[in-house]
Amino acid sequence: MTSTSTQFKQNTTLAGRGMSPGLASDRAFVYQDILQRDHECYDIDKHQIDEEYARIEKATAVVLGDLEHAAERIESDLDSVLADIFRSHKTLLSDPGLAAELRSEMETELINAEHVVQRVFRRLVRRFRSVGDSKLSTRADDLTDLSRRLLRVLAGLHAHTLENMPVASVLVARRLLPSDTVHLSRKSAVAVAVAFGGPASHAALLTRELGIPAVTQLADRIDEIAQNDELLVDGSHGTVVVAPDHPTRQKFANAAIRARARLAQARRRCCEPATTRAGVTVQVLANITGVEDARLAKENGADGVGLYRVECLYLSQKAPPNEDELAEEIGHAIAPFQNRTVTVRLLDLGADKVPPFLDLPAESDPALGRRGVRLLVEYPDLLDTQLRALLRVAQEQKLRILVPMVTLAAEMERVAESLTDAAEEMNAAVPPLGAMIETPAAALDAAAIAQHSEFLSVGTNDLTQYLMAAGRENALVCDYFQEEHPAVLRLLRLVQADVGWRPLSVCGELAGRESAVPLLLTAGVRTLSVAPTRVPVIKEIIRNIDDTDGDQDKQTSQLTQEAH
Ligand code: PEP
Ligand code: MG
Repeated sequence: MTSTSTQFKQNTTLAGRGMSPGLASDRAFVYQDILQRDHECYDIDKHQIDEEYARIEKATAVVLGDLEHAAERIESDLDSVLADIFRSHKTLLSDPGLAAELRSEMETELINAEHVVQRVFRRLVRRFRSVGDSKLSTRADDLTDLSRRLLRVLAGLHAHTLENMPVASVLVARRLLPSDTVHLSRKSAVAVAVAFGGPASHAALLTRELGIPAVTQLADRIDEIAQNDELLVDGSHGTVVVAPDHPTRQKFANAAIRARARLAQARRRCCEPATTRAGVTVQVLANITGVEDARLAKENGADGVGLYRVECLYLSQKAPPNEDELAEEIGHAIAPFQNRTVTVRLLDLGADKVPPFLDLPAESDPALGRRGVRLLVEYPDLLDTQLRALLRVAQEQKLRILVPMVTLAAEMERVAESLTDAAEEMNAAVPPLGAMIETPAAALDAAAIAQHSEFLSVGTNDLTQYLMAAGRENALVCDYFQEEHPAVLRLLRLVQADVGWRPLSVCGELAGRESAVPLLLTAGVRTLSVAPTRVPVIKEIIRNIDDTDGDQDKQTSQLTQEAH
């Protein structure tokens, strides 16, 4: 990010990719990564080793404290799975093997603490990346993040640079790692622009959760932004205008006013049903991860819960929650939706989500390995505890149980059997059991799966990743991760046509995209499940649709124009 004179770049439009929708403008706060600075490197004598190494130990203790603090803070602010990331960083940093490698580097090379940290971490990152395994690659990102924290403390910088970000700035960065995102809040950042980051990265998740407009994949063009430049960020279309001229600024301001008015209008009507002009009513449910989301979903007029992701009850735990704890947590979280449909998904572990209590062997292709229901059938205790807890909650609250990552009809048969057995033992009524359709095989064989499922929910995040052969976390192939690609939509229409006799919903990110809603309705979908803050807007989009059988292209272009 250079200091090119503003007059040379007036009205430059940088095209990237929308990461979180919305419009916002303000001055740039260009975030300088500590790893890009030059650190002081000097040699030490043998007798100085203990004293110099004590600096690393002290910095490690400070970072461990910071990580715990960050985890607690994010947990209380957002009730988010993100807290687990900080706890896993703590484990990584406390590894005695790491301490031994740092010490031995200092003893053999006789160099100062900063230099040791840089060299050792760079080597570890390279080692992890070279394996070509996505899980280890994520670990490499975690290590980079830890080295930044250590270097910052060694440099005597106690506050994270982002803590000093002026209120209402547009945050501009090459990448945002987990330790950066914890400093993001609606107050400090009005928008975010990053050079790299996949659509399912931590930063993407958090900006969407916070409702902060964000653009990613600006690549090296991000260097055209200097500190304090005025920026117009359009997170819906993935563009950033640098140093806008008066007419552009005016046009953007008008669009932002219209968008705000649209949002206010949508909020006013959010508790009313979403019915198209042709009289078709669509259920707009919410995706939640816990109590806070459920409250937000209720405030935003969600008609129920289409997807309760329970992973956060497990991921940071040394032991899995027992039946009592699960029943209590889940019952408490869904209390705002008394008498509404609530869909709780069974634990979807595997790939990048591995809790400390499961000592799973590393897999060469984790995304294609043991995930979701594949793991549940291999750990029957884990499955039965959840089923029993959910049967208890179902006695008080209308509940549906959703099975993640189904590929084979036999998997549904197996879970249905366990559910019936548990219900018989407990003398409880059996709640509806449904399947997530998120693999191409499940989509193509949905009719067979539907024989053992009372409802189906299409998870377009995974379905897109598997259909387009593009990892959802992998920024390098994000051009291939196209949720609205004709192949994805065609598969969706096929599923709807094959199993239209079963209730079917769409709960991936696609359901919360304004441009996709008319296409989903035309495909016959009548239930959508979206992030809590997206409920009012999606309901309003539905109300403006004329004809759910008609010309899809016409409707899409109409809505896109309205959005401008
Ligand atoms: C999906 O894959 O679309 C989905 C909703 O599940 P998750 O994002 O939790 O994998
Ligand atoms: Mg999924």
